[in-house]
Amino acid sequence: MTTVVQKAPRLTIDGAIRIAAEVYGLQVSATALPSERDQNFLLEISTGEKFVLKIANADEDPQFLDCQNQLIRFLAAAKIDLEFPRIVETIAGADLASVTGDDSRAHSARLLTWVDGACFAAAKPHDRKLLASLGRALGQMDRASANFAHPAARRVFHWDLCNAAEARTSIDLLPDSRRRIIEPFFAAWEKIDWRSLRFSVIHNDANDYNVLVSTDEKSGRRVSAIIDYGDVVYSATVGNLAVALAYVMLDEPDPIQAAAQVVSAYHEQFPLTESEIDVLYTLTVTRLCLSVCIAAQQTRDVPENEYLNISNAQVWSLVEKLQHLPFDWPTRVFRFAAGMPVVSDQPAHTQSDSLLARRKRTLGPSLSVSYKSPLHIVSGSRQFLFDVCGRRYLDCVNNVAHVGHSHPYVVRAVTEQMARLNTNTRYLHELLIEYSERLTATLPEELSVVFLVNSGSEANELALRMARAYTKRNDVIVVDCAYHGNTSAMIDISPYKFDGPGGHGRRAWVHQVTLPDIYRGAHRGEDAGTRYAEAVSDALRPAEVNGGVAAFFCESAVSCGGQIILPAGYLREAFAAVRAAGGICVADEVQTGFGRAGSHFWMFETQGVTPDIVTLGKPIGNGHPLGAVVTTPEIAAAFANGMEYFNTFGGNPVSCAVGLAVLDVIRDEELQQNAREVGGYLKDALNQMKSRHSLIGDVRGQGLFLGIELVRDRQTREPADREAARLIEQMRKRGVLLSTDGPFHNVIKIKPPIVFSRRDADELISQMEIVLD
Ligand code: PMP
Repeated sequence: MTTVVQKAPRLTIDGAIRIAAEVYGLQVSATALPSERDQNFLLEISTGEKFVLKIANADEDPQFLDCQNQLIRFLAAAKIDLEFPRIVETIAGADLASVTGDDSRAHSARLLTWVDGACFAAAKPHDRKLLASLGRALGQMDRASANFAHPAARRVFHWDLCNAAEARTSIDLLPDSRRRIIEPFFAAWEKIDWRSLRFSVIHNDANDYNVLVSTDEKSGRRVSAIIDYGDVVYSATVGNLAVALAYVMLDEPDPIQAAAQVVSAYHEQFPLTESEIDVLYTLTVTRLCLSVCIAAQQTRDVPENEYLNISNAQVWSLVEKLQHLPFDWPTRVFRFAAGMPVVSDQPAHTQSDSLLARRKRTLGPSLSVSYKSPLHIVSGSRQFLFDVCGRRYLDCVNNVAHVGHSHPYVVRAVTEQMARLNTNTRYLHELLIEYSERLTATLPEELSVVFLVNSGSEANELALRMARAYTKRNDVIVVDCAYHGNTSAMIDISPYKFDGPGGHGRRAWVHQVTLPDIYRGAHRGEDAGTRYAEAVSDALRPAEVNGGVAAFFCESAVSCGGQIILPAGYLREAFAAVRAAGGICVADEVQTGFGRAGSHFWMFETQGVTPDIVTLGKPIGNGHPLGAVVTTPEIAAAFANGMEYFNTFGGNPVSCAVGLAVLDVIRDEELQQNAREVGGYLKDALNQMKSRHSLIGDVRGQGLFLGIELVRDRQTREPADREAARLIEQMRKRGVLLSTDGPFHNVIKIKPPIVFSRRDADELISQMEIVLD
């Protein structure tokens, strides 16, 4: 049996030079390029212009070569951020020429202009930006080629993923040990329901030698071309992405994470369907199986062609790694990357009405539920929540699901550690120490002692005890409208609660200072930070009467108070005054920490201060109940006064595993940088919206901690609370979740999971624009 490879043309360099002269009228120098079953030459003319002369396999149908040419022209005319070669006509004005090879067989020849760029295989490391650029390029390509048709694309082809059964017949050429590894992958391929997938003409060979990368000074490296249309076929559209992913995963320490970057960017350009996402991993590994089977077959037939084994060793090493992954893991990661519910099969759900009735009977009425008609949410992914009817909502408020709802890496950390061990801090455990070290590494050097707890309230509660133990004093200074937690002592120091409905009013040991609000407050100028800090100095006097101040508690940006960014210099001056009076300073970072600020990992850093105690919560565990207090060795020593501190759940190995996973994801997915970029972009867009709508009095914030204050009149700043409530309800109807805050309930707060993208920002803006109109 002769294979297609055995019919590869056998032209010499001189033959190529002769064809260039006779057929194209070009005087060239030539070098041979690698190819699986054709022959390619790089030609160069005296001006330096370069071309690729492609001599097709004798088996190749000229109709199919026309299909390639037409597709290249079609894509070049589409709005795609990629370069395409130009097809050079023969002297006679044709796209194709028939030439005779040195083997006396007739072959079709084509001439294309050369496209410059480094190949992806050589463009290591494949950072997130480059991977995203590949995803965007492929998504744009597939979106465009969905509208392309050519009869010759409908062919039976051994590299077509739909046709993997053909290559599978060569599995017997592999040694038993290797065959056993890939058999389960082929078995999964057999189960694909092809009718559920979209079909179109696809490139089908975005391997790491066909993807070209170029570098420009401003935007860095990006995928600039995808070359070689010899494997074009009418097939499952998602196959094009699957082929690319197979090569993206080669040599990656975390191949699935690398692939997910591509998937996410692809999905933004050309949304994948759920059925496509669900077969994507199977198709990706099928491509790897095809690669090793076809290589085995061709090595048997043409042992001298090295191109055939170009990536064989890498492919085997990848396949060997992938065999140990739970088969549903990559799909979970890809579903998350596409913002789809991570687990596809949803359990049966009760009617929302009856659930509400049961809730009212069983839960205390002081627990409130959002919206006039409550939402019944059953799953989440990234910055999206899904209700019982499958409707998707853009979550712009949940700062707990910091790295995204149901992040698969966080979920895996919880489940794996829960399966292994969960106990308390009375035993030695690596994770407790590793996590504490990693956490303190993000903080100023002085803050080096960690206490792990289970909530923000508990963290602040412990901070208060420590402050009292260290200073041997009792009083606390707090900021108006602040909220620090739900325990008795925390309600005592939370004006947002004790001053609000049902509140007991201020305790004598608590001293309240003005909210440093530069929009609505008394001080709005350059010196606002100093003016508001004077209020803290003033509060020291009544505290002195009671024996002195133990602590000044301050959120690093005041959330319940209405997304207030502290004016420059405020904490520096307030801290100095408090410390001079013998008190200590507690920064409540429960809402604001872990990169949300964008410019800094911690919001207090934007004020240029180092607190004596920092309290952490909400985002720290991405939804797992975890909190932390980090302080100085001196304060920790004073707290160790003989009374043991024990916390049953605080610091358990599961919580530590979660905390570590969250820190890893923030670093690996560059989420602090995302908060800075997307936050800046969104704030600019909100400011533009402000110029069009007089209802918006103020836009403020930092990173992905933003607020929009609504007013009826920009002069009087009369709070537009009813309008804000209506806006929230209307936005919910449009699939965007927001909520209000501030003493007058007129501030729209925006503090989404920090995976929030520019596209989400656009969506938020365009929906809000409609509602405001
Ligand atoms: N501090 C701040 C600033 C908060 O916003 C909250 C919760 N909203 C807490 C503390 C209390 O945290 P938790 O609800 O986890 O007890």
